[in-house]
Amino acid sequence: MKILVAVKRVIDYNVQIRVKEDGSGVVTDNVKMSTNPPDDNAIEEAVKIKESGKATEVVAVSVGEEKAQETVRKALAVGSDRGILVKAEGMIEPLAVAKILQKVVEKEKPDLVFMGKQAIDDDCNQTGQMLAALLNWPQATFASKIEVKDGSLEVTREVDEGLETLEVNIPAIVTCDLRLNEPRYASLPNIMKAKKKPIEQINASDLGIDTKPRVEQVKIEEPPKRKAGIKVASVEELVQKLKNEAKVL
Ligand code: AMP
Repeated sequence: MKILVAVKRVIDYNVQIRVKEDGSGVVTDNVKMSTNPPDDNAIEEAVKIKESGKATEVVAVSVGEEKAQETVRKALAVGSDRGILVKAEGMIEPLAVAKILQKVVEKEKPDLVFMGKQAIDDDCNQTGQMLAALLNWPQATFASKIEVKDGSLEVTREVDEGLETLEVNIPAIVTCDLRLNEPRYASLPNIMKAKKKPIEQINASDLGIDTKPRVEQVKIEEPPKRKAGIKVASVEELVQKLKNEAKVL
């Protein structure tokens, strides 16, 4: 069984995001970039399935600028066997990423595609669902537990009412939640070994995919600053303030 895992390079989740003065986007120059957090869970799960003997190959794929190679390299350092970088400049919207991944799937013929549930830069939560629709494959989103069965997967997902368990036939798309597992750190020897693992580079234009944005981003602005809070000395004072000042009681 072959597992393809999509990994996106995004601004590191610890970075304090700054909006550009002209409101055209967020500052990315000299900003630390990392793998989109749930994509680390997707890689970890694929590597664990391979280690359990139920998969034979894990292939990491990223769509983006040349620098996205670092993201693929990190996936190789934590156990992926090889990587693919589909080069495209600028902002690539979920539909374009899904169309590119569809081409990669048609070429690689994986049995499973693991992705993150959502990218923390655009917060779209669309790419996995769009890819499933384009391929006409079953999908299980927000996976917090995955069990590989014979020809199918049992996927547990967190929903408002509790836990939902689905069975999807393979081939399938699974988008991964942060609670799925604890991603491992890359050890120094594995980082060194990863340098020798192959990364195939493809141009998005060679796949015949138009990556021009379909959505116009009108403006980005900081959320309004919140007023500083206050400390109250007692529950009585809190109730009095909620009643008389906030007028919410
Ligand atoms: P989104 O729909 O943008 O919230 O992204 C959901 C998931 O799709 C991410 O967690 C990634 O696994 C995958 N994905 C989105 N954009 C890319 C990209 N440029 N390269 C690789 N994977 C991506």
